[in-house]
Amino acid sequence: MSELRDLYQEVILDHNKRPRNFGRLEHPTHQANGHNPLCGDRLTLTLRLEDGRIADIRFDGSGCAISKASASLMTDAVKGRSIEEADRLFADVHAMVTGEAGHEVDVDRLGKLAVLSGVAEFPARVKCASLAWHTLEAALHHAGAEVSTESETQ
Ligand code: ZN
Repeated sequence: MSELRDLYQEVILDHNKRPRNFGRLEHPTHQANGHNPLCGDRLTLTLRLEDGRIADIRFDGSGCAISKASASLMTDAVKGRSIEEADRLFADVHAMVTGEAGHEVDVDRLGKLAVLSGVAEFPARVKCASLAWHTLEAALHHAGAEVSTESETQ
């Protein structure tokens, strides 16, 4: 895992400095706002679904390095995917950052997202890392919703 740990630092720094898909889409079909009150992370996701696939996605907002990097990685990972595929990735990432997946990380399948497994070592940052994913779920399944990492009902 030490290789993953080095990669974690590198990827988080890189995506924080040069976030991918940053901004807002002009004509989104779906959007949602996410808030992590514990850290103060806020983000807005706008996306365009075409034929059941995420044709384009952007994120905007302010927050810590982990939340920003995680949103950047998430948008990269789900672009072009179907809703079902995005849902599955969310489940995998959630299990990984909360440590539920144990130490088995399927690097081949998760690609760069595997570096987020490093977050499991910092429980306080788990919500920072999962905020973008919760917001994605809200955008896909409860368009226009406002999600908070402190509300279990969402
Ligand atoms: Zn944060």
